[in-house]
Amino acid sequence: MEQSQSPTCLHSPPCPRADDSSWGSAKVVAAHPEQGWSLLCGGALAFEDTGGLLPDGRSVAPYRPTDWTRTAA
Ligand SMILES: [Zn+2]
Repeated sequence: MEQSQSPTCLHSPPCPRADDSSWGSAKVVAAHPEQGWSLLCGGALAFEDTGGLLPDGRSVAPYRPTDWTRTAA
């Protein structure tokens, strides 16, 4: 099994690492919906526009899964 999970992650199954492509599926550990972001297990921030900010400072472009329905109008 993957042995490089964050030692602070106590979830089962363990959350993806923040540098994994599936980082966005990590558990939310602190939600701030009024500010439009959530802190995910692993230290990444997830924004309500589906973008993100990784703990190493890299930003993740929003993937906006609903864009194709919105822009169809
Ligand atoms: Zn976790």
